[in-house]
Amino acid sequence: MLPTRPEATGLGPAEPSHWLSDMLALTIDLDALRANFRQLRQWCGPTVKIMAVVKADAYGHGLVPVARTLEKAGADYFGVAYLHEGLRLRQAGVNAPILLLMGVLPGEAAAAVQAELEVALFRPDIATALAAQARQQGRKARVHVKVDTGMGRLGLLPAEVLPFLEFLAGLPELELAGLISHLATADWLDQTYTQQQVEEFDALRRQVRDRGWPAPASHIANSGAILALPHTHLDMVRAGIALYGSPPSEEAPPPVPLRPVMSLRSQILQIKDLPAGSSISYGRTFIAAQPIRLAALPVGYCNGYSRLLSNRGQVLIHGQRAPIRGRVCMNLTMVEVTHLPEVSAGDQVTLLGADGGDRLTAEELAAWAETISYEVYCLLGNSNYRRYKGE
Ligand SMILES: *Cc1c(COP(=O)(O)O)cnc(C)c1O
Repeated sequence: MLPTRPEATGLGPAEPSHWLSDMLALTIDLDALRANFRQLRQWCGPTVKIMAVVKADAYGHGLVPVARTLEKAGADYFGVAYLHEGLRLRQAGVNAPILLLMGVLPGEAAAAVQAELEVALFRPDIATALAAQARQQGRKARVHVKVDTGMGRLGLLPAEVLPFLEFLAGLPELELAGLISHLATADWLDQTYTQQQVEEFDALRRQVRDRGWPAPASHIANSGAILALPHTHLDMVRAGIALYGSPPSEEAPPPVPLRPVMSLRSQILQIKDLPAGSSISYGRTFIAAQPIRLAALPVGYCNGYSRLLSNRGQVLIHGQRAPIRGRVCMNLTMVEVTHLPEVSAGDQVTLLGADGGDRLTAEELAAWAETISYEVYCLLGNSNYRRYKGE
């Protein structure tokens, strides 16, 4: 496996050197990413566009290498949160359309128009700023009007959309490229609320059509809806977590095979035997009832390995599970290996990923740490130096 060139990750040479330590290796498997994309392409069919959502540094997998890989694999669109992410993609040579999912601030309009970034739109002052910049630059600004059909987050309420479109019609420098909404419970088996949101969105699309406006591309499906509700695919889908290999739903297995893309490995730094009654780590939250063999691992919460894993999480050593004992520290975690007498210092430890016949998934880590796979990926991926496989 080749260590990735810093310029390919977007991480500069000024990154903290401990991120490059052999003590902890975060690996991104680009073959798995490509395989997941192909599964989604096949599932959605050739006529539905796929927007790869690569916000948060591609959920911790690395914005530029992920986007380059997916553009080659045939991704039609990219979705990011911030202007700087869109600019970084353009600098890296990504030519596909890019949508800024949170829109821009008025002061960012010039740069967004210049880089031909498309903008989610929900505020008239931002529309005016984009139009002014487009006029000055002799370009069109492409916008996707964002509708809140029940997510209760960003976007115009359905009743506000038609008046807003009337207002946009007075700004000829803006091109209405899309109508966008987001689902709150697409990962649930109970589809009542999702269906309500979809119907609200459908009604709005009909109203737009009835006005005789050219139909903008409609998109509402995230990974949960992509896999469970094909009737929500519409013109385009926005795929995030499924691309990174995690099932979006806790309630239903995905209908297509997905391969985890991220793994995290370390090694045993020290092995030691302690007598019964010994306490482990800060705060003495674990007291050994029996003599205990411990392995100290050079990983901790500064590496995104959550302190909530204290006394709960497990790792894989020689394909066997070893439970975390005591509190996870900033750079160290202790696991019990009393039941694995053959292990020694320097042996590989898997914190996320497969070893032998077993695998630790982001879902499992998330359950121990009281969160979701999305946060596990963001924390681990964005706290550690990433190495790439399958470039
Ligand atoms: C993050 C995001 C997505 C992707 O969601 P997944 O559940 O990861 O597929 C889609 N649309 C919007 C607006 C988002 O913010």
